[in-house]
Amino acid sequence: MRFIGSLDQGTTSTRFIIFDETGSIVAQHQLEHRQILPQAGWVEHDAAEIWTATQEVIIGALAKAGIAGEDLAAIGITNQRETTVAWDKETGAPLHNAIVWQDTRTQQFLDSLSDEERSFIRQKTGLTIAPYFSGSKINWLLNNCPEVKAAVAQGRALVGTIDSWLAWKLTGGHNDGIHITDVTNASRTLLMDLETLDWDDRLLEILQVPRSILPTIKSSSEIYGTTSTTGPVGAGVPLAAILGDQQSAMVGQVCFEKGESKTTYGTGNFALLNTGTDIVRSGHGLLTTVCYKFGDQPARYALEGSVAVTGSAIQWLRDQLGIISHASEIEALAESVSDNGGVYFVPAFSGLFAPHWRSDARGVIVGLTRAATKAHLARAALEAVCFQTRDVIDAMAEETGITLSEMRVDGGITANSLCMQMQANILGISITRPVVSETTALGAAYAAGLAVGYWASTDQLKKQWQVSRRWEAEKGNSLRTSGYQTWQKALTRTLDWA
Ligand code: ADP
Repeated sequence: MRFIGSLDQGTTSTRFIIFDETGSIVAQHQLEHRQILPQAGWVEHDAAEIWTATQEVIIGALAKAGIAGEDLAAIGITNQRETTVAWDKETGAPLHNAIVWQDTRTQQFLDSLSDEERSFIRQKTGLTIAPYFSGSKINWLLNNCPEVKAAVAQGRALVGTIDSWLAWKLTGGHNDGIHITDVTNASRTLLMDLETLDWDDRLLEILQVPRSILPTIKSSSEIYGTTSTTGPVGAGVPLAAILGDQQSAMVGQVCFEKGESKTTYGTGNFALLNTGTDIVRSGHGLLTTVCYKFGDQPARYALEGSVAVTGSAIQWLRDQLGIISHASEIEALAESVSDNGGVYFVPAFSGLFAPHWRSDARGVIVGLTRAATKAHLARAALEAVCFQTRDVIDAMAEETGITLSEMRVDGGITANSLCMQMQANILGISITRPVVSETTALGAAYAAGLAVGYWASTDQLKKQWQVSRRWEAEKGNSLRTSGYQTWQKALTRTLDWA
C-alpha cells in the first residue's frame, strides 16, 4: 500500500501528515517553532529552525505510520504564505531571519510609492498595497541586510517564500536543489502578473527586486523534482504539489466549482470564494488571488477576505490577560453568560485587514459597564471572530452577487461549537465542518496525488468529502441585526488611532 505525505508549514508550527487513498489521516507529527519579535510590529522566524523541524516531523510521522519514505507515492507542500526567506545557495544557510506575513516594518517604504505605482501594482497583482505581502519584505532584506546585499552582489543569494525554501532543501539544497514556487504563493508577492502568471518587469522595478534571485513559478500540481538522498524522506519521492495554506484548504475542502467557498479559522481568518477562470477585481477591499492551477489546466482564481486577528485574539486573552489558561477554555467561560453584556472587542492589534485595510486602526474594547466581566469579554472575543468574517462575506456578496447558502469551515477555532453557532447566527446561513479538519494539509496531498495519478480526478476527491458537523442559523437571533450594527459602530472607534 502507498500513501501521500503532506508537509504543512504554518505560522506557529510545522506538521507532516500521511494520508491514505480515502483521504484519511494515517499518522502525523507536529513541532512548534519560535516567534521572534525584535521590536513592535516586527515578526520573524528562523528558517533554519523550520528546516530542522521539517526533517523531524517527516521522520516522526513516517515512524508513527510504520512506513519508509519510499512508501510515499508523492509529497506536497503547503505553507504560511508571504513569509519571506533569503538564503545562500552555496552554504545552504539563511542570510537573515525570515520576515513573517504579520510583520509591518515595510509600511514606510510602501507609503513612499507614487499613486501611479500603487494603482499599477493593484491592477497587475489583484492585491492591496500592504506590508503583508512578500514584495516589500524582499525589498527590505535587499536594502537593510549587509549579508543579503553581499550575497546578491556575488550571485549567491536566493529568495523565496517558505515553500521555495523547503522545496529547495528537500530536493538537495546546495547540491542541485530546485528553486521554485507555485502560482498561489507567487500571487501573494506583489511581483506576479495575475494574467501571465509570471514575474512582471515593471513590478520588479517598482519594488527593486532582481529577477535572478527569484524562484521559477510553477503550477500547483506537477512533478517538480524528487527528494534527495540526504533529506528526511530519502531519495526519489516526487515532490508534486505546492499550495499556499489558504488555497490548499480550498482544495482540501474540494471547492472546485465557481461559487464554492470556505473559511479557515486559525491565527487569522481567511475566506476564499472560487471565481473559476474569471479574474474578479475587487472594489470592496477583497484580494484577487490564484486559487490553484493543476498542471497544464487553466488557473482558477479566487476572491479572498483576509482577517488578521481572530485566533490570536484568543491567544491574547490567554497570554496577555491570563483570563484563560488554554484556548479551549474560552467556550465554557463565554457560555457562562447569556450574551455579551454590551461589550464589543475589536482586536485591530496591527490595523485592520479586509475589507477595511486600515493600518491606522488599533484594538478597542467598548461598551464596558461596572457589570462587565471576563466572561463578557470572552464572549465578545468569539463574536469578534464571527463579525469580522461577516464583514468579508458581505463584501464578497456585494462584489460578485453570489450569496452563500452554506459555508465550509476548518481550522483550530472550529472546535469551538459556541463560536460556530454564533457564526451561523451572525451570517444567517448554515456552517459545515468536514470529517477531516486538517483540510490545509489534505489540499496539498490531493494536489500531489493528482499529479502522480494516485487519485484519478477531482470528481473522485469530491466524493471523499464528508460532513462531520453542521450548525444552522437560529431564526430571529439579534446578533445578526442589532448586534452587527453595534459591531460596525465599534469598528469606527478603532480608526485614526496609530
Ligand atoms: P494556525 O494554523 O493559524 O496556527 P490553527 O488552525 O492551529 O491555527 O488554530 C489555532 C488558533 O485557534 C489559535 O489562535 C487558538 O487561539 C485558536 N483556538 C484553538 N482552539 C480553540 C477553541 N476551542 N476556541 C477558540 N479558539 C481556539
